[in-house]
Amino acid sequence: QFPFGRRLPCDIYWHGVSFHDNDIFSGQVNKFPGMTEMVRKITLSRAVRTMQDLFPLEYNFYPRSWILPEEFPLFVAEVRMMKDSDPSWKPTFIVKPDGGCQGDGIYLIKDPSDIRLTGSIQSRPAVVQEYICKPLLVDKLKFDIRLYVLLKSLEPLEIYIAKDGLSRFCTEPYQEPTLKNLHQVFMHLTNYSLNIHSGNFIHSDNVNTGSKRTFSSILCRLSSRGADVKKLWSDIISLVIKTIIALTPELKVYYQSDIPAGKPGPTCFQILGFDILLMKNLKPMLLEVNANPSMRIEHEQELSPGVFENVPSPVDEEVKVAVIRDTLRLVDPQKKKRKDVQQHIESGKKEVNIRYNYLICYRCQTLEHVSEASEALLDAGPADRRECDGRSPEAGLPSLCLKQVFPKYAKQFNYLRLVDRVAALFIRFLGVKGTTKLGPTGFRTFIRNCKLSNSSFSMASVDILYIDITRRWNSMGIDHKESGMCLQAFVEAFFCLAQKKYKSLPLHEQVASLIDFCEYHLAVLDEKRLVCGRG
Ligand code: ADP
Repeated sequence: QFPFGRRLPCDIYWHGVSFHDNDIFSGQVNKFPGMTEMVRKITLSRAVRTMQDLFPLEYNFYPRSWILPEEFPLFVAEVRMMKDSDPSWKPTFIVKPDGGCQGDGIYLIKDPSDIRLTGSIQSRPAVVQEYICKPLLVDKLKFDIRLYVLLKSLEPLEIYIAKDGLSRFCTEPYQEPTLKNLHQVFMHLTNYSLNIHSGNFIHSDNVNTGSKRTFSSILCRLSSRGADVKKLWSDIISLVIKTIIALTPELKVYYQSDIPAGKPGPTCFQILGFDILLMKNLKPMLLEVNANPSMRIEHEQELSPGVFENVPSPVDEEVKVAVIRDTLRLVDPQKKKRKDVQQHIESGKKEVNIRYNYLICYRCQTLEHVSEASEALLDAGPADRRECDGRSPEAGLPSLCLKQVFPKYAKQFNYLRLVDRVAALFIRFLGVKGTTKLGPTGFRTFIRNCKLSNSSFSMASVDILYIDITRRWNSMGIDHKESGMCLQAFVEAFFCLAQKKYKSLPLHEQVASLIDFCEYHLAVLDEKRLVCGRG
């Protein structure tokens, strides 16, 4: 900790809340620029919706959502339409204020007319979402899962998921929502911060009882009841990868703005908290993503009236210590050096002499110097490892709890990364480093360089398209700091162009075809420029 400021550059910077330090030119930072904004309820809903437009079946793990206040008329109209077509449909909706957390301001409604429109909704935007009425229950209680995910790198995309997570329980037996029980938060909301105030809250003294348990203990129980736990895990992995694929395009725009390519800057990684609800049929549904998940391993206990003490929480400790330990192991700057040494040895070059700086000991977290020779040998292979047993930084540490899922399963998911490619086009035409919005000239250059204008789509129509879409997005009041076209507006314009050009195809094929078309013309242009440059 540097309470009075930092003098020397560090290998790893561990920020408390968000990426806010413009004074870092090397090393690794534990936060991505823009992540806090990206996981807000409205932004996440928008990002997932774009993916739902392209791939409705693949993105059916997020409840149908509407953004308030702007989509209130749409919400009313769609609900009315669905009710008309299926009179037996008796939905419940959950209203969540944007940027809220810990269940703050959340309420359930049965009908769009129950939304509290007076005052607050205008000043406090929100998401209204279909309420999942049939969650999986354990001991008659609703619970959700908090899973920890490490986004180790954005480019190339690297994702790790922790093998174990937390299950957070409600404290009143669950009943399907009725007008009578809608307001019973201890029955419907699983937030720890709310349920801790219930008289029924049980602090767990081991990992498989109480109001907060490990996810693995739930899996054990499900497995003993004959549930297909393997399938459940693979659905969860797929949910996590798809959600991150929905977030990456905008994250890349933030990234290039804060850490421009080609200039000295840090790389980033981030631990995210995924909140997932299991439906009765074991289908996992995404509730939200937390950019700053609590890493507390203690809880407050009232010893006598008004006297509180922090006591260890075995469940939190079991899960969270492993996540932090593995994150540090994975981003360990010495790892890269060890790899370099390995290459050095393999190419038969001279003796190696490197010092390894530290060893992070499980639980005791002491720093210990170790000789680099054993390190180099450690990485050289299993036979060598035996010789230097106990002297490596990782010897004696439990095996990794964070498992790589991307690029491991990249082949299965890469076809979904269309908006990422649209974002790459957007970033190319942003021009001035440090901006996140495209000006009219940048948009015109994009159209011209990609050869998208023709006799039936004049440059005047291009300008009209730019003005229409940009004005609408800016009127939603998302970000007034900069003027111009934001990524989502560009994506909308891109989809419009794709629909115009490739009329009869499904949307994702239209978009993929237009991306191929643009990338081809830009590659030709780059080639020409290269030749001209050489000439
Ligand atoms: P917050 O950030 O305030 O915790 P969440 O989106 O996590 O907001 O919602 C709070 C709680 O409400 C969740 O932990 C979950 O128990 C419940 N919840 C949220 N969305 C739904 C939903 N669509 N269906 C059923 N329960 C939900």
